[in-house]
Amino acid sequence: MDTASCKSRGRRHMPLMTTTPDTTAAQASAEAPRLLPFGNRFAELPPAFYTRLQPTPLPAPYLVGFSDEAAATIALQRPVAGTDDEAFLDVFTGNRIAAGSQPLAAVYSGHQFGVWAGQLGDGRAITLGDVPAADGHGRIELQLKGAGKTPYSRMGDGRAVLRSSIREFLCSEAMAALGIPTTRALAVTGSDQRVMRETAETAAVVTRMAPSFIRFGSFEHWYYSQRFDDLKVLADTVLEQFYPALLRQDNPYKALLTEVTRRTAELMAQWQAVGFMHGVMNTDNMSILGLTLDYGPFGFMEAFDARHICNHTDSQGRYSYQMQPRIGQWNCFALGQAMLPLIGSVEDTEAALAGYEAVFEAKQDALLHAKLGLKTSRPDDDKLIDAMFTILQNSHVDFTLFFRHLGNLQIGNPAGDEPLRDLIIDRPAFDAWAEQYRARLRTEDSDDAQRRLAMHAVNPKYVLRNYLAQVAIERAQQKDFSEVEKLLAILRRPFDEQPEHEKYADLPPGWASHLEVSCSS
Ligand code: AMP
Ligand code: MG
Repeated sequence: MDTASCKSRGRRHMPLMTTTPDTTAAQASAEAPRLLPFGNRFAELPPAFYTRLQPTPLPAPYLVGFSDEAAATIALQRPVAGTDDEAFLDVFTGNRIAAGSQPLAAVYSGHQFGVWAGQLGDGRAITLGDVPAADGHGRIELQLKGAGKTPYSRMGDGRAVLRSSIREFLCSEAMAALGIPTTRALAVTGSDQRVMRETAETAAVVTRMAPSFIRFGSFEHWYYSQRFDDLKVLADTVLEQFYPALLRQDNPYKALLTEVTRRTAELMAQWQAVGFMHGVMNTDNMSILGLTLDYGPFGFMEAFDARHICNHTDSQGRYSYQMQPRIGQWNCFALGQAMLPLIGSVEDTEAALAGYEAVFEAKQDALLHAKLGLKTSRPDDDKLIDAMFTILQNSHVDFTLFFRHLGNLQIGNPAGDEPLRDLIIDRPAFDAWAEQYRARLRTEDSDDAQRRLAMHAVNPKYVLRNYLAQVAIERAQQKDFSEVEKLLAILRRPFDEQPEHEKYADLPPGWASHLEVSCSS
């Protein structure tokens, strides 16, 4: 596993070189495929914002995964073997340029692990352009991750491995199905071309989609280079394209910071509520639209530990589960600093940021009440919730299974608690808590059947456990992509019982405790 820290990627270490030299850049041919009505709004920004370039082709690409749901958002059909599949594979591997597409890599900067890292940029992501959203609301940008070197690659090889590409693909789609704001993933293509990481792996490309991939670090880039005109161009573009209603406010920049702060606070509450850990919450991985962005060493909480660190290169635990809400706020402050010249005063900037805690707490409160099946809010609920987290922590209870089983609790039948009780080491503590919980449910005349339905609609049964991804990855490395497809289908309906897939909801097997995830991808 990678021992280099993520922040030092490509600076002091050189772990990311391909073994096979890349072939020539993709060419826009006369018969450019017309898969989608491509344009590129980002290319209308001043030239300093990006570099136009061609993806670097990969030999003999094959389809590893395809999301029909993501495709539907841009009115695209699954490619049918023998017809348009070759053009699809070529375009979404970066081997051919579709008509209207103007590939480019964007520049940005950022704070990595709390330290100013200077210029970064799309080191291995190439934006192909944007296409109309199927719902008629705006346009969706399509990006190839792993499509070759860019001027921002530093020492990296511009590639992504099959392992990390499958993880990003599955998790983006799983998060969308959980109702959590996220970038989407259309497809993963693979190639046998070798890529060196800790061991030799093979290359893959994820096509990811979002209305925009603009990051907090995009704003920081112009602020720290003191190019306030460009900072204004960026903010005006974001306002016009994604927050047009804010243009009517007295100070649209202050309104923008207020809204991004609000979205970020809500996103953090949503992550916490499903036990999602991002792993690398650097400001260059924070979306200006409040989306979950840049899936790397992420994880879903299994045996609960508030201090859990999913990225094993994060030795200090800066991005541990319990730190995420505070880091989300820290990142908003970094954005606020960068927007200060536009907002005009420290007071207004502070006012825009001030809402973070209240928004986070209100959202967290609402989500936890829903997770517990509580329809009302009472002053003592905090105590009940704190006591529940103490049990989760002390007994390292599986986070997903705990809430799922809790939904089956019957007020008048403590003997029926067994599957839930079985998850817990400290049974007396649980019994005492369950008694308080039952008493609390009685205060609102809670109905078992109704509560069960409501709780199962917010407490997922199926999440992307690390070991499930690992099994799918190992099969895919043997060229069997059926498990990727199957997992995607299961994770698309995370709240449904799916009795035929019961084992995908089980506790992880013993071998899974040795799985480690690093930034090396
Ligand atoms: P991340 O930690 O994945 O968000 O990446 C931080 C920066 O490193 C971003 O600017 C990435 O584009 C860049 N990067 C990561 N991996 C590679 C790679 N294999 N080749 C080139 N650039 C990379
Ligand atoms: Mg990143």
